[in-house]
Amino acid sequence: MSGESLYDIILTAQKILERYPLCDHCLGRQFAKKGIEMTNKERGHAIKVFLNMKLYDDYRNGRINKERLRSLAINSGKPVSSLYEKLYGEKIAEAPCYICGGKINEKLYDELAEKAAALLKKVNVYKFLIGVSIPQEIVLREIEVSSFSGLEYSESIKNEIKREVGKRIMKFYGLEPDFDKPEAVVVIDYETLGLRLEINPLLFEGKYWKRGRNISHTIWTTREGVNLYPYSLQEFFNDRLKEIFDAEEVVIHASGREDVDARMLGTGRPLVIEIKNPRFRYVDLDLVNELLKGTLIEAVIHGESSRSRIAYLKGEASKKKKLYKVLIMTENPINRRQLDEIEKYFTNREIRQLTPLRILRRKKEHLRRRKVYFMKTRRLVDNVFEALIYCDGGLYVKELVHGDQGRTAPSISDILGVQAYPLELDVLVVEQE
Ligand SMILES: [Zn+2]
Repeated sequence: MSGESLYDIILTAQKILERYPLCDHCLGRQFAKKGIEMTNKERGHAIKVFLNMKLYDDYRNGRINKERLRSLAINSGKPVSSLYEKLYGEKIAEAPCYICGGKINEKLYDELAEKAAALLKKVNVYKFLIGVSIPQEIVLREIEVSSFSGLEYSESIKNEIKREVGKRIMKFYGLEPDFDKPEAVVVIDYETLGLRLEINPLLFEGKYWKRGRNISHTIWTTREGVNLYPYSLQEFFNDRLKEIFDAEEVVIHASGREDVDARMLGTGRPLVIEIKNPRFRYVDLDLVNELLKGTLIEAVIHGESSRSRIAYLKGEASKKKKLYKVLIMTENPINRRQLDEIEKYFTNREIRQLTPLRILRRKKEHLRRRKVYFMKTRRLVDNVFEALIYCDGGLYVKELVHGDQGRTAPSISDILGVQAYPLELDVLVVEQE
């Protein structure tokens, strides 16, 4: 259709308007790719102006009768209706637009932009996106008109509203439309013209350390409403960050997790911190890092993160190798030679683990295969020694020590030939990337 002349455009417009009443906006959208630097309203109006000229010509040359001109005037509105009124001296009632019913106009766009900008400014959002929910009935009417016209370059009403409102917010309120990473989306309900604000969360990349024991990831509450552990990482991040971002909630996504009674030392564990519904977005990261300093728990933020990073941390990265330190007590005294033996034995050794009994109530029975790469031991007294264990992520270290009634095999208890118990567990290294 790209080679068509201006006259073809007028003929097509006449064909459409003979059948459907359309306002300037909705007619203009049918010819959306024709001309640049103008709105659909201007485009639609211009086409109607040319149609007025053509119809006047037709009238003078006797090519159009009163009835046909009348129905075109009803469907087109001004200036075709003015032409008819002038020629025949009778007033006509213009029909409401077949697609929008006359709902969309410049004033509406101005009002929507003003309301949307106020909403965005209230939550300190700078980069925004406009969304529109359109009833299916309107969409079907649009499709009907554009398939009747046979034009391949019509624009949707949804697009027009998004663009017109977005343009005004940018021009009059100084905010910036952002299609890739908007800070918030204002969704306009076409039917009610109500606005809904969806604030996108802030995601930060970071690491945490847990220097105390009996600190859980999330708050564990008994049925009686008593907290099982004195403190949790979830509370730590909420206590420290909720206020400064004026957020609804702070959620953490870590790469695996240590047991409640284990410490996380050394390299720290990578995590993504999600700030939900923040009303302040531009907070100095140095200030945030000051707030995240602590004695029992400490964290640091490196910069922005993403949803795909969360998926990576939760999936692939959680299987990366770890280094643990375990304090182990044995039922009977053991000697250095026995420890040398287990060091030798647990070198590149595959361990088979059925779901530990302690978590079997929460998780399904499953066989896990993980490798121990090396083990270094240090004897402290007759029946207490320390072991450094370098292994695959996801290996149940406590079970590796005590054997879990034979559900983990081989275990340190098996190879020592004496029952061993893990007393304290620390994570020293969480490998990354
Ligand atoms: Zn319309």
